Amino acid sequence: MMHPVRTLLSATLLACMTLPAYASESAHWGYTGDGSPEHWGDVDTRFAECKMGHNQSPINIRRSEHTRHAPLALKLGSGEQKIVNNGHTVEVVPEGGKPTQLTLDGDVYTLQQFHFHTPSENTLDGKQFPLEGHFVFMHDAQPLVLAVMYEDGAPSKALVPFINQLKNVPHEETALAQPVDLKALLPQSLHYYRFSGSLTTPPCSEGVIWLVLDHHVKLSLAQLGAFEQAIGQHNNRPVQPLNGRVITD
Ligand SMILES: [Zn+2]
Repeated sequence: MMHPVRTLLSATLLACMTLPAYASESAHWGYTGDGSPEHWGDVDTRFAECKMGHNQSPINIRRSEHTRHAPLALKLGSGEQKIVNNGHTVEVVPEGGKPTQLTLDGDVYTLQQFHFHTPSENTLDGKQFPLEGHFVFMHDAQPLVLAVMYEDGAPSKALVPFINQLKNVPHEETALAQPVDLKALLPQSLHYYRFSGSLTTPPCSEGVIWLVLDHHVKLSLAQLGAFEQAIGQHNNRPVQPLNGRVITD
């Protein structure tokens, strides 16, 4: 059965995925000045949840709250991909082929898009990372975000073809000449923290399942810099109050 709130959230998410934000009729929001995160709730009545919500993302995750659980059941797909700079982030959208899917609580979630924030939005024991990837999945109308932290270290050879394509990301969806190898964007260990949260961009809709991976992926400083340059701004919403939420497996 379609839950009405979830249906609305799903429609919003789909609209965000298909319409570049600057081309939509939604009010101006961003990361600096009058449209910065502390003003999102006032920019547009539709964004009220950004200031009224009690389960907002991102959050600081206290690692001591980690519990035992089975690693994530994730099956990587294949196929074409499109890339776009939508004015807020760099986003990649899978096109056709075999979908990337994960199974949680017996439900199969399908990857809709992934995008990046610099620096990271969620923090682990107060630590902020230079880059965070958000892999947005959907099951029926239930959104789920799988988050991955990237930190500096040895360069990732497997990501060289993708990072080369970040030099000139168009403002309209364009096919990636060489699809990015999703495996290279993920750590080997898929242990995660789970909590309930929201979209980290307006309208900040709640009811999103968050899975933040405990292990990180290493990239060289130059590779991290290529992401930053492609995104072109700091696009992290500050951490939000937990308000009694529990982080579980
Ligand atoms: Zn995001």
